[in-house]
Amino acid sequence: MVSGVRLVVLGKQGAGKGTQCTRLSHHYVVPHVSTGDMLRAAVKSRTQLGLRAQELMDQGELVPDQLIMEMVGQRLAHADARSRGFVLDGAPRTLSQAKMLDEVLAPDLLDLVIDLDVPTQVVLRRLAARRVCVDCGTNYSVSQPPLIRGTCDICGGEVVQREDDTEDAIQRRLELYQRQTKPLLDFYGQADLLVRVNGSGSADLVTRRAIRAIDTALARRGRPPSEGV
Ligand code: AMP
Repeated sequence: MVSGVRLVVLGKQGAGKGTQCTRLSHHYVVPHVSTGDMLRAAVKSRTQLGLRAQELMDQGELVPDQLIMEMVGQRLAHADARSRGFVLDGAPRTLSQAKMLDEVLAPDLLDLVIDLDVPTQVVLRRLAARRVCVDCGTNYSVSQPPLIRGTCDICGGEVVQREDDTEDAIQRRLELYQRQTKPLLDFYGQADLLVRVNGSGSADLVTRRAIRAIDTALARRGRPPSEGV
């Protein structure tokens, strides 16, 4: 049986985190926990959290740490995440979220933090072309649209350009990423949990690189490797 994993994936917006996290969650049979998707679902269903988060999200600002980590903590307390682990996508985004995550997981520890590394120029191009399903979060692009225009192949939901994928908001989010998320790389580097994975190239190639990195980390902890892809 494939071993589970407790994994955080970091990377600039548009680095391919969503795609890779979905693939890795299938491979290791653990839930894909995406804070962006959870927040967008909360906005859509107009929960109290959604109403507080919407304006910040539309402006490309971060939602307060406490709100995010309460939401993450509740999700990671579910049986699937507790028993096998998770692929955490979109959090932590700040040092204080990283410290709160350690508290949420204690006495367990993360197995690995992947930094999905893609040059900024590539990311800007990808984000401008990105389209997303408002219902299930599946990503498309102008060059790889759904089969039926504007309609998700997976769930039939509406496929649109995200409100925060405008040029101004993208620029703002990348600046925020540099300023607030980079210290996380130092934090996890010092904890010997960080592995940089080259995010350039086809999705299949990047997945293979990520699985190799994860299996190596799991083997160091005495866990059996997963079957390769
Ligand atoms: P994403 O889909 O990960 O780009 O997230 C979309 C938006 O949700 C971000 O621009 C933030 O406004 C908010 N968000 C998602 N995750 C977090 C987080 N960990 N901390 C703060 N805000 C977040």
